[in-house]
Amino acid sequence: MTQHFDICIRGGGIVGHTLALLLARDRLRVGLLAQAPATASTAPTPDVRAYALNAKSRALLESVRCWPEAQHATDVLDMQIKGDDGGAITFSASELKVPALTWIVDVPALENKLRDAVRFQPQIELIDAPQPATLTVVCEGKASLTREEFGVDFHVTRYPQHAIAARLSCEKPHQQVARQWFSQGEILAFLPMDGAQGNTLGIVWSVLNARTENLLAESADDFCEQLMTLSEGCLGKLCLISERRAWALQSAQASRWVGTSNGQAWALAGDAAHNVHPLAGQGLNLGLGDVEELASVLHDRAFWRPVSDARLLRRYERARKTEIASIDTAMTALQQLFSRDGNIWQTLRNWGMNGFEHSGMAKQWAARQAMGI
Ligand SMILES: Cc1cc2nc3c(=O)[nH]c(=O)nc-3n(C[C@H](O)[C@H](O)[C@H](O)COP(=O)(O)OP(=O)(O)OC[C@H]3O[C@@H](n4cnc5c(N)ncnc54)[C@H](O)[C@@H]3O)c2cc1C
Repeated sequence: MTQHFDICIRGGGIVGHTLALLLARDRLRVGLLAQAPATASTAPTPDVRAYALNAKSRALLESVRCWPEAQHATDVLDMQIKGDDGGAITFSASELKVPALTWIVDVPALENKLRDAVRFQPQIELIDAPQPATLTVVCEGKASLTREEFGVDFHVTRYPQHAIAARLSCEKPHQQVARQWFSQGEILAFLPMDGAQGNTLGIVWSVLNARTENLLAESADDFCEQLMTLSEGCLGKLCLISERRAWALQSAQASRWVGTSNGQAWALAGDAAHNVHPLAGQGLNLGLGDVEELASVLHDRAFWRPVSDARLLRRYERARKTEIASIDTAMTALQQLFSRDGNIWQTLRNWGMNGFEHSGMAKQWAARQAMGI
């Protein structure tokens, strides 16, 4: 049977859109099912999150001409991480001789860029129901139904935490510094937004499940008061300028990333394949790494191999599973280290942070890994 599409992408998040653009560049015919049919009539509400994207993700998004303007992608020049008993780690772009450690990207600005680019790409057709194709790529996020339909096990370990995200304005300029505090099993991150002179922060506050409802319901003033205490007032008065939204946190991996169902080849990418704790801001960076690898494997294939070729797809699976497993292990270990009660653990982790701060080469190596260089 002749297929209309070479590739049908199910899921129109950042990962699905980026993959569509990468494949279209190779003259493949792509069908993009951006939203689950049941939700297609409801307009999505703008995301309050800001993502830390690394140099590798930036280069990929630039290659499809979708990197947002400087106002929506703030350079991070320094990072300050504080433990719960005097531990501290700092990273500086100038010390590492890079233009920025990472970029804090306004999520709706990036999504709009990708949607516009897809609209003007003749190789991509927006579809409103799954279509037969030589290869189906599932980019439906962590709650993917197609993954379930294909019979793939998704091994989920829930963290006892939710992440609350919101936007704040701050009295003092953020000076392009990203800040993170670990305290009593919780993690607060302040991400600088709105460009070099900005007074806006994206926050991600990973809090214990039992506290989530209260933190979402309390007044904006009380919420900001707590953030000011935790951040030691370093940016002056804080004001809430968006709604607060919460996400349950989990670590998860799909047992298989590629396969066939009713004779049709499929592959998973992004959050449909793996979830990691957002404490190091790596989830989307990894998802973009998936689609870069998949597009590259398909681009390099011999002319006689179809895009459904099992050997190609297994190569993609092997390459990505290994990288993601090591990052997930590191995130889980860090999260657990900082959630353990007791003086010994507290002393140990803060001592470890200070040791890492002075470790020279090891610190540089870790920074370069996180930057994707
Ligand atoms: C609080 C928080 C902060 C984070 N911060 C960072 C960060 O700083 N840096 C970073 O790299 N990562 C971060 N992440 C992780 C990041 O959000 C995810 O890794 C990323 O959104 C995954 O993108 P995706 O496209 O795979 O999935 P999603 O963003 O979940 O998109 C999936 C899309 O598929 C659609 N869909 C679902 N089902 C179907 C269907 N049946 N048919 C068609 N479409 C469907 C959905 O509507 C959605 O549009 C953070 C996560 C959280 C929770």
